[in-house]
Amino acid sequence: MTQSDTAQSAWNATLMNTYGTPPVTLVSGKGAHATGEDGTDYIDLLAGIAVNSLGHAHPAIVEAVSNQIGTLGHVSNLFGSTPVVAAAEKLKARFGDESARLFFCNSGGEANEAAFKLARLTGRFRVLAAVHGFHGRTMGSLALTGQPEKRAPFEPLPAGVEFFDYGDLDAVRALVAENPSEVAAIIVEPIQGETGVIPAPEGFLTGLREICDESGALLLIDEVQTGIGRTGDFFAFQHEGIWPDVVTMAKGLGGGLPIGAVLARGKAAELFTPGSHGTTFGGNPVACAAANAVLDTIDDDFLAEVRRKGEKLAEGLAAIDGVREVRGRGLMLGAVLDAPVAKEAVAAGLKRGVIVNAPSASVLRLTPPLVITDEEIDTALERVALALRDAAEQQEGN
Ligand code: PLP
Repeated sequence: MTQSDTAQSAWNATLMNTYGTPPVTLVSGKGAHATGEDGTDYIDLLAGIAVNSLGHAHPAIVEAVSNQIGTLGHVSNLFGSTPVVAAAEKLKARFGDESARLFFCNSGGEANEAAFKLARLTGRFRVLAAVHGFHGRTMGSLALTGQPEKRAPFEPLPAGVEFFDYGDLDAVRALVAENPSEVAAIIVEPIQGETGVIPAPEGFLTGLREICDESGALLLIDEVQTGIGRTGDFFAFQHEGIWPDVVTMAKGLGGGLPIGAVLARGKAAELFTPGSHGTTFGGNPVACAAANAVLDTIDDDFLAEVRRKGEKLAEGLAAIDGVREVRGRGLMLGAVLDAPVAKEAVAAGLKRGVIVNAPSASVLRLTPPLVITDEEIDTALERVALALRDAAEQQEGN
């Protein structure tokens, strides 16, 4: 057995089969590079699915986490700690509304679960969500997820969620018109990530804001994947200049440590009261120390660099044979392929030393560390081009 066979059989003998068997075991990383157990160097264009915003082993995160775990690792929600307040202050400042308040949890699914519960506390029942949207795998966040194949085995899910076609404001208006005073919230991703990096059409978020203002529903933006600088704005909704009532975050916030957050403003910030929601680990000092390191690093100059590097990566991708279109913003990009060879290209990429992901048969998703260098982008593009050539040859051979 090769080293990898050993790792794979150990995986299969110990872990539930929720993800299939991973093709590679990673053992270390630095910046945008990750190293496999056999020593293979990969340029990581996925960053743990948009999580390792500062790359692997960023010194600021290593220092913050090491110091915090050596000082105070956990306090529960019965005590205060300084890292959680610091993280809340930074997110509030980024959001720019004095009425904003934060709730911390441990993942994106949990953040949306909390937001769903918060919406119910308005006293209204209906929640509108997008077809093909993805909001998580807990029962509540799955209820918000517009993907029948993921929902079906777990039904009945929490009731009251209705779906509209992403981008179709008339469909949203028609749903709201059925009973406007019963709509608690409308939830959307600014760019649908898991479905294949599909940006909302220009004006869609603005239209949703108007509909929410008219009906009194909360506008809930899921920034779990798009937030914390991923798209070149701190929050992706800023691209349209709108202000949501509730924002959920996770992934890039902790730079690799598990943390999620719900930010709400105005009346929505007062809906949770003692006893209505909570989690033991929420606001954990170590996770918040990592978040603080991320939030201190992602300043406006950093965001400008994300936009510049995003354009460079998008241009390079568009020039590769087999890529029909590149969509997305900043360093959250989808390369739409001429042929349905994305899964084959992912496997070929691993052989060529580049990590990409295939959210669908014809789309490659790229969410590299935001700290990726120009040189790493150039090398990664060469490797992606080779992987796509390999995948196309494999398809011709079949
Ligand atoms: N919301 C969005 C937009 C996501 O992309 C994801 C995960 O991919 C989630 C929610 C769920 O996050 P988690 O996997 O941390 O529960």
